[in-house]
Amino acid sequence: MSTASTDYDAIVIGLGFAGIYQLHTLRDELGLKVRAFEKGSGIGGTWFWNRYPGAMSDTESPFYRYSFDKELLDEWSWSRKYIDQPDILEYLEAVVDRHDLRRDIQLDTEITAMTFDEASDTWTVTSSTGQSWTARYVVTALGLLAAVNKPDIPGIDTFAGDLVHTAQWPADLSLDGKRVGVIGTGSTGTQFIVAASKLAGHLTVFQRSAQYSVPSGNGPTTAEEVAQVKARYPEIWEQVRGSSVAFGFEESTTPTMSVSAEEREEIFEKAWERGNGFYFMFGTFSDIATDPDANEAAAAFIRKKISEVVDDPETARLLTPTQPYAKRPLCNLGYYELYNQDNVDLVSIKENPIVEIVPQGVKTADGVVHELDVLVLATGFDAVDGNYRRMDIRGRDGISIDEHWADAPTSYLGLSTAGFPNLFMILGPNGPFTNLVPSIEVQVEFVTKLVRSAQERGAVVEVTQEVEDAWTEECASIANMTLFPKTDSWIFGANIPGKKHSVLFYLGGMSAYRDLLAEVEEQGFRGYTARTPSAAA
Ligand code: FAD
Ligand code: NAP
Repeated sequence: MSTASTDYDAIVIGLGFAGIYQLHTLRDELGLKVRAFEKGSGIGGTWFWNRYPGAMSDTESPFYRYSFDKELLDEWSWSRKYIDQPDILEYLEAVVDRHDLRRDIQLDTEITAMTFDEASDTWTVTSSTGQSWTARYVVTALGLLAAVNKPDIPGIDTFAGDLVHTAQWPADLSLDGKRVGVIGTGSTGTQFIVAASKLAGHLTVFQRSAQYSVPSGNGPTTAEEVAQVKARYPEIWEQVRGSSVAFGFEESTTPTMSVSAEEREEIFEKAWERGNGFYFMFGTFSDIATDPDANEAAAAFIRKKISEVVDDPETARLLTPTQPYAKRPLCNLGYYELYNQDNVDLVSIKENPIVEIVPQGVKTADGVVHELDVLVLATGFDAVDGNYRRMDIRGRDGISIDEHWADAPTSYLGLSTAGFPNLFMILGPNGPFTNLVPSIEVQVEFVTKLVRSAQERGAVVEVTQEVEDAWTEECASIANMTLFPKTDSWIFGANIPGKKHSVLFYLGGMSAYRDLLAEVEEQGFRGYTARTPSAAA
């Protein structure tokens, strides 16, 4: 441990699922003096910010929660297959209250800079108001889908109606009876479109890329189903942690082409009826994300469904994706069906691009001005490293994280990066690609053990560039075994103009990731160097 005195032992930045749990473990398990900062005026992260109509999880309800608090698992229930945003936020508020975390939380505080002082081996963390605090350890829990991507469309700020990004939804914005336009058809856009099609007087969807959406199967759950899950939680979590995507279902081990065409159709049809995007991609067959023929079979099934569901052939054509089925899978209740409604129009901005936004609405290349009262940007996020680059983070030798990541954002295990001692990232670059709460728990628990070991040894810990480079290579080689790099999405940083495409995730699965962390720990935190701290400044 550093000999310099600091305001806190540890500082946590960000209070979503990751920061909340990290504050709890560092304070309540290790007994450290911890302060947690959040720029929002409330806790919850994703679930504080994303209040757009239709916002919900697509991890099924029993598996989108912490597993660490056994009593809470028993107490906290759900009533539908997926949890809506207000309920997830209420759950996180309850966790914070239950563990008496609020007294160590400071809201409305954006951290704009963090500097490592080599003389004292301490971090100084500075907020937008110029206040600063020191600590030996910093954990960044900044969110991987939290830095808003506002597209640079000519005239965007001239719009006279309400212009709103889905992750900055104002509490008082009603869509009832209004002329609403939405740009973006990712997970967010499609969820929003389903909800808005029931609220808006008229909805215009500006679609750049057509999406594969499977049914979600959302609906009520019975008290009996809930009770059955609760009784089985220990084995459920074991299954989740021992699986690849950690979504709570058994992943298929059957290759797509190993069964007859009839059997394939039957398996896809059952999955269509059951619902859930990850289930469709990973629960039906073992190789949809890796084998081009298998992928095409799944894609063809969904394309056939689109042609059956959508009445107008031209609309069906525009809604039909042609690229592989290899973005983050998504699911909705009645997505393609809603394009049969009279109050919904689809505009393909690939074929008829937006030329500018004018005060009255959106002007497309065909000269039409789509007049709107509300324009919704469902244009996603500068994912993974976005929030890091929005801060001035400086490690040893004054090197900034931007300089260190000049080529691409990298890390060791998704947790640490060379030259930034005693700094730990939850869901940093090249962390696991799964149902995220289980991954957050695994990472937070690893960081807690690492900090405990550093405390006991009186050491400053840092990773070497060699292990970081090796991890980056491993993540890239696993990603290249999949079809995900064949489509442009945020998973490889391809959604942000000018952002270099690079591997941003470990696609090796939850089970392998957990085993690896356990091995790293057993081998005395292999890959981390530990040194005696500098004398007090
Ligand atoms: P976040 O919840 O994003 O929290 C990060 C926090 O850090 C934010 O509150 C932010 O304000 C704060 N912060 C950032 N920078 C600073 C700074 N400089 N100073 C102070 N505070 C800062 N994942 C799933 O696995 N299943 C799902 O069903 C699912 N649904 C999703 C639905 C939506 C609409 C979105 C956007 C994402 C969804 N995700 C889902 C991903 C989701 O982000 C994660 O599951 C999880 O909530 C991430 O938690 P987190 O704590 O890591 O980050
Ligand atoms: P996204 O997947 O990146 O989708 C953004 C959409 O906006 C895409 O349709 C994109 O088109 C479009 N777009 C971006 N910039 C544009 C521009 N300049 N002009 C026109 N169109 C533009 O973002 P997201 O939908 O917010 O989802 C991000 C991730 O958050 C998801 O993959 C998921 O992990 C998580 N999430 C989950 C849920 C859930 O169901 N539980 C809900 C929301 C979000 P292109 O495809 O052509 O780039």
